[in-house]
Amino acid sequence: MFFYIHIPFCRQKCQYCKFALTPKFDELKISTYLHVLKKEIGDFFESNTHVSVETIYFGGGTPSILTAHQLEEILSIFRRQPGSQSLSEITLESNPEDITREYLRSLYDIWINRLSLGVQTFNTDTLRIVWRSDSNTYIFSALKSIAEGPIENISCDLIAGLPHTSPWQIVSDLTTLFEIMSPKHMSIYMLEDETYPKNWKPHLGGEETVRSEYLAGALWLKTRGFEQYEISNFAKPGFASKHNTSYWNHSPYRGFGLSAASYIDGSRSTNHTSFSGYYQGKHTIDVLSSESLRIERIMFGLRTCWVATTDLDDPKKVEILLHGWLIEKRENKVFLTSTWIFLIDYIIGELI
Ligand code: SF4
Repeated sequence: MFFYIHIPFCRQKCQYCKFALTPKFDELKISTYLHVLKKEIGDFFESNTHVSVETIYFGGGTPSILTAHQLEEILSIFRRQPGSQSLSEITLESNPEDITREYLRSLYDIWINRLSLGVQTFNTDTLRIVWRSDSNTYIFSALKSIAEGPIENISCDLIAGLPHTSPWQIVSDLTTLFEIMSPKHMSIYMLEDETYPKNWKPHLGGEETVRSEYLAGALWLKTRGFEQYEISNFAKPGFASKHNTSYWNHSPYRGFGLSAASYIDGSRSTNHTSFSGYYQGKHTIDVLSSESLRIERIMFGLRTCWVATTDLDDPKKVEILLHGWLIEKRENKVFLTSTWIFLIDYIIGELI
């Protein structure tokens, strides 16, 4: 099974972020949260003694706010389980501000073997307006530390669509990044939300600019040996995220912590998004109907690779999309054509 652990603390709340987290915390708040989190994990394994542990993913929030000791206390619960023999990937999402040589070494010592770094951009005008930071030196410093090892499986995130963006920005960001170190995995996220903060508006390039930026980044990566295995995700052969792939394959996963979701035996449960609700064990459970699962298979399938024609119940609509070259059909599978990647929401709407 695949495991997610939510660490809901960030030093500041980014204006575009919709995750459940707080920028107001101290040592006591962290230790209280970790106490409840470890109990939730321990209780799960008490009643699921022989579940196999395939991957563990620390997401957030900013998991790199935790010390290696705090992370190890969580990981040790998993390692005590008989099913942990199959554990092959432990990922930590991290903020460049937290990355030092010493921290990387301590993560390696507790067997964290994959680091996901939120680079976002090197553009200082963007950093100033979005993160109220006047400098990108902390990003350079983190990348230089990472380049020295010992963790080799590194993923970096960039964002298209931030203020002061342009198609050349992402090419410049990628060039700068790869001059310092060589990530095995890259994610390029597109910000296409209508609810941008007011102070961003004069500096935004518009929808076409965001798309051009994304395409420029995708092309740059593909010409350097990266394979696109999901709309936002690119990996060198053999380095696709096992954990994230499990979500898209409908493999069972268990999430722990504030707002964390789980999918087991056709049911999706979600922990409460407030600290008090989570501490009281509040959560919701949705039993997914076969129709809901079919719709999800279409959505995830088009975002990643293909959809089985057996999941498509309106042959006329499929024919119309095929005639418009929006999708391709090979044997009994339907693929999204790369030219129409930005019409994915429309195409999904037609197929479900
Ligand atoms: S660092 Fe990431 S998780 Fe934290 S507020 Fe910003 S976008 Fe959200």
